[in-house]
Amino acid sequence: MNIHEYQAKQLFLHYSIPVPDGKQATTPESAEQVAKELGGDGWVVKAQVHAGGRGKVGGVKLAKTPAEVAEFSRGMLGKRLVTKQTGAEGLPINSLLIEKTYPIKRELYLSVLVDRGSERIIFIASSAGGMDIETVAHETPEQIISVPVHPAAGLQGYQCRKVAYALGLKGSQIKALGKIMQGLYDLFLAKDASQIEINPLIETDNGELIALDAKINFDDNAVEVHPDIRAMKDADQEDEKENKAQQFGLNYITLEGNIGCMVNGAGLAMATMDLVKLKGGQPANFLDVGGGTSVEKVCEAFKLILSDHSVKAVLVNIFGGIVQCDIIAAGILAAVEQVHVAVPVVVRLEGTNAEQGRALLSNTGLNLYAADDLAHAAEQVVALAEAA
Ligand code: ADP
Ligand code: MG
Repeated sequence: MNIHEYQAKQLFLHYSIPVPDGKQATTPESAEQVAKELGGDGWVVKAQVHAGGRGKVGGVKLAKTPAEVAEFSRGMLGKRLVTKQTGAEGLPINSLLIEKTYPIKRELYLSVLVDRGSERIIFIASSAGGMDIETVAHETPEQIISVPVHPAAGLQGYQCRKVAYALGLKGSQIKALGKIMQGLYDLFLAKDASQIEINPLIETDNGELIALDAKINFDDNAVEVHPDIRAMKDADQEDEKENKAQQFGLNYITLEGNIGCMVNGAGLAMATMDLVKLKGGQPANFLDVGGGTSVEKVCEAFKLILSDHSVKAVLVNIFGGIVQCDIIAAGILAAVEQVHVAVPVVVRLEGTNAEQGRALLSNTGLNLYAADDLAHAAEQVVALAEAA
């Protein structure tokens, strides 16, 4: 789960990680008011969307007067922001973060995440902050340092100093960085984060270290036990269909193609998508309806698939291991009638009672094709999508 920058910065404050003076605003008038309350002689208006790369596309603007803060806010609120990380349709800007500006001497990078390879929480840091860390990793990997933390020992002072030296920090900055790293580590563990990224962590003209940006991802499987984190969820920033799917216990991910896929089991879903691509088609989604699926789930799954208007044909691939194929076939029939499926549906059923299932699906007068074999089913659905 993702949260907004302004929420991440509130968490940072609880863990003694310094952030700029600032406040969230949802109207141009309140944004101007926030600037006046903050005081100073420069402010930054930051679009609150669940994506980075805002600076490059006008989602982060520096204002010289409170009136200019209002003007920039008016220009952003209600629009959608398209960044390198959002996809073409972008994300809605419903709120802003107004902050004081700080004189930046250097932009550094600091993050903490779970490294599956070493099975450790690791810190990653670089003196080349403010830019795409992937680019830095690719072009100048020597500018990146990583420090794995032993789970029993926890974060050690020498590890913080190692990072501080690598970042070229001096004197009291070394201790300040240690405090920031310890805060990040405590926050990471306490709230079951999966990644926390500060890009940039700035060094101001007078040597202070401040987290100018803040991004936190949480482990979806742990959010349930953190009501404070769960309350920060902003459904507007998430894919509507993926939200809906979650409600019904379906694993759904939107993709770019035009062939809707409904499969039981994640592995079979992956194999089905591979096969569709092999036969020259493009899947419109990944959808795992679960091992023991029900008529209700099949109906909801159809609704989800069809709410994507680029879908030209649907491939249902069900293996009747826990469920019986005739029950699934009945569910598919009910669903196709209930949700008025207008596009052709190719169904491949295999496993327990497959014969009975296929019999139910043939000669229905509906736009249904009962396939007997998976490769054939994939070919058929690709042809039907092309013909549409
Ligand atoms: P994103 O990563 O989405 O582009 P950032 O929060 O990193 O957004 O902001 C982009 C850039 O804007 C920063 O690298 C920094 O140069 C500048 N910036 C952001 N906030 C401030 C601030 N409070 N004072 C001065 N400059 C800022
Ligand atoms: Mg950033």
